[in-house]
Amino acid sequence: QAEHVIMDETAMRRALTRIAHEILERNKGFENCMLIGIRTRGVYIADRVAERIQEIEGVPAPVGEIDVTKYRDDRIGSLEPKGSGEEAAGAEAGRLQVQGKKLILCDDVLFTGRTVRAAMDALMDQGRPQMIQLAVLVDRGHRELPIRPDYVGKNVPTSRLESIEVLLREVDGADQVVITQQ
Ligand code: 5GP
Ligand code: MG
Repeated sequence: QAEHVIMDETAMRRALTRIAHEILERNKGFENCMLIGIRTRGVYIADRVAERIQEIEGVPAPVGEIDVTKYRDDRIGSLEPKGSGEEAAGAEAGRLQVQGKKLILCDDVLFTGRTVRAAMDALMDQGRPQMIQLAVLVDRGHRELPIRPDYVGKNVPTSRLESIEVLLREVDGADQVVITQQ
């Protein structure tokens, strides 16, 4: 089984900082915006981008989270407000205030697009967002739906036999992206 490091800690930090800048540029600030992390590792990505946005812009960046693991093509996911952002804190338990908001979905890896589709469905069950954008640390290709990311840490063309391992210090004790081949 071959392993190859495609992002180290420094590359990951730079990519997430760039994405924070791109989000602020595209949205002309962060007003009326909320980051939504897709559990599990997308939540850490969202938190890190939120930290940087707060540093750069000096405004709080609300973060919500969404779990679509059981949902994907046919089941309802759960939604939760998260963190101390005022919008997130003001949300009712289990619901996110998405009405009229610009939502930036965050995930570690984008593959077929089915998880993102499920996340968009779950979010739109909560209300009518003004817009949904997508940020991913790694786009590994192989889309099966007409979904494309607005912000990409790294494009990594993969074969279906390869898989991407994303290690994050919050859960794995280190920051690293590795491509492995069975
Ligand atoms: P999709 O729904 O686009 O097929 O897959 C994306 C979801 O599955 C993401 O939440 C991501 O965490 C996970 N995923 C899919 N492929 C990979 C991969 O190669 N590596 C990792 N780490 N996660 C993946
Ligand atoms: Mg995932």
